[in-house]
Amino acid sequence: MAIEVYLAQEKIQARIKELADEINKDFAGKELHVIGILNGAFMFTADLVRHLTIPVTLEFMAASSYGDGTVSSGELKINLDIKKDIEGKHVLIIEDIVDTGLTLKVLKKNLEERRPSSLKLASFLFKPARLEHPVDIDYLGFEIEDHFVIGYGLDYAGRYRELPYVGIYSPEGES
Ligand code: 5GP
Repeated sequence: MAIEVYLAQEKIQARIKELADEINKDFAGKELHVIGILNGAFMFTADLVRHLTIPVTLEFMAASSYGDGTVSSGELKINLDIKKDIEGKHVLIIEDIVDTGLTLKVLKKNLEERRPSSLKLASFLFKPARLEHPVDIDYLGFEIEDHFVIGYGLDYAGRYRELPYVGIYSPEGES
């Protein structure tokens, strides 16, 4: 297995601080309900909310459109839903990566139907090369090239989520 460092830990943390500053400014005087999308966004969510100074409530939702491999199944499953009634609330979805955009398209529609006062999206990564379903990303960490990346929450077959950096995974190099 070969992992090439793509986004170093320091670079990630510096960008997250910038995003949090933006969110603090945009939501000044308001309360924010943060919804982190499991499993991939757990680390990004934890690091981002640490820098938020506005009043925040936080829940996680589990949704996936991928199997165990590197190819999308094109199917979305909601495995864990939020408990809070978000009607009239300011909501921020926190996702790991927008790839084809399918997950976010379906998720956003689902949450919009619950009539929040506003619904914004923060995504750690965006892979424009593979986009099929356009989604507005309000707070973006990094735009990346068309690589299968792992680490900082992102997995390959359940592994590597714990890495503090983002790497490019090359299965061919596996030993
Ligand atoms: P989308 O629905 O936008 O195609 O894909 C969303 C989900 O696919 C992400 O939340 C993530 O779990 C998974 N995914 C997409 N691209 C990658 C990637 O490069 N690496 C990993 N580990 N997961 C990915």
